[in-house]
Amino acid sequence: MINFQYVRTSVVKTALGLIGKDPKASFIAGGTNLIDLMKRGVTAPDKLIDINYLPLKKIEEIDHVLHVGALASNSELAENMIVKDKFPLLMLALQAGASAQLRNMATVGGNMMQRTRCAYFYDTTMPCNKRAPGSGCGAIGGYNRMHAIFGASEACIAVHPSDMCVALVALDAKVVIAHTKGERKINFIDFHRLAGNTPEKDNNLQKGELIVRLEIPLNNLNKNFHYLKVRDRSSYAFALVSVAAALDIQNNIIHTARLAMGGVAHKPWRLIAAENFLKGKNPTVANFEEAAKIAMNGAKGFGENDFKLKMAPNSIIEALTVAKAKS
Ligand code: SF4
Repeated sequence: MINFQYVRTSVVKTALGLIGKDPKASFIAGGTNLIDLMKRGVTAPDKLIDINYLPLKKIEEIDHVLHVGALASNSELAENMIVKDKFPLLMLALQAGASAQLRNMATVGGNMMQRTRCAYFYDTTMPCNKRAPGSGCGAIGGYNRMHAIFGASEACIAVHPSDMCVALVALDAKVVIAHTKGERKINFIDFHRLAGNTPEKDNNLQKGELIVRLEIPLNNLNKNFHYLKVRDRSSYAFALVSVAAALDIQNNIIHTARLAMGGVAHKPWRLIAAENFLKGKNPTVANFEEAAKIAMNGAKGFGENDFKLKMAPNSIIEALTVAKAKS
């Protein structure tokens, strides 16, 4: 048993002051990943700052932007009427994640902060550059069926496990972050990081900062959309490959295309080149196939995950085809 202190606050400023004073402290909200990490000895904060009582649960539309408090639960967000009506891609991605019980506990901010499910990361007897920088990567040349095909480095080939984040990157969300001097806002696409030679860093949140809300601009992507999650069993499994696809189709022309993938990179993987190709084109299978080909540029397998090199483009085509068929 590792001892740790537990403190609770209902004031954001106090929470920021507490975390700023203690480099080994950690915020805890739903705890659906952090508790596992602590039980397995992957992480050992000396203080847990319970933020569940902070006033960060509101979900509301303000000036054509959906504001989502970081402490809204995944199920609250999926069930919200504005989300169902105007951001159904996000609803589908949320519903695809974890189990109903976990979605009730897990918060939006926690979902973004969850760590990879690479088995070597959780096994403290194995080398892992993310858990113990410089110790090596057990997955390269080892069990890597779930691992990255895009943007991997020689230090780490892990993937980000979230479904929600795949939809959020496709929807051009922004992340609002509080610190002791105020707030800053970054694009969702810049929140998570590629592993590079610092795989221990999952994202660009700085020590002493707290995610307070997401802002998602309204769009015309609520008619032709699909979230496809390919996984080993039909419930409660992480994605082998997932695709968030949304199209704004007018007079049989694609005005806007949004595409992102999960289960393929260290961060939610937006497919900008494929989106640009689709813009102005007819929504045909031939164009979807070409977009998938473009999206796969630079993909690389590591042995056990080579099947993703076929699964990924097929999933893109399938997600776009289903999205188009909704009109
Ligand atoms: Fe660790 Fe990343 Fe290698 Fe997994 S892929 S063992 S998380 S360094």
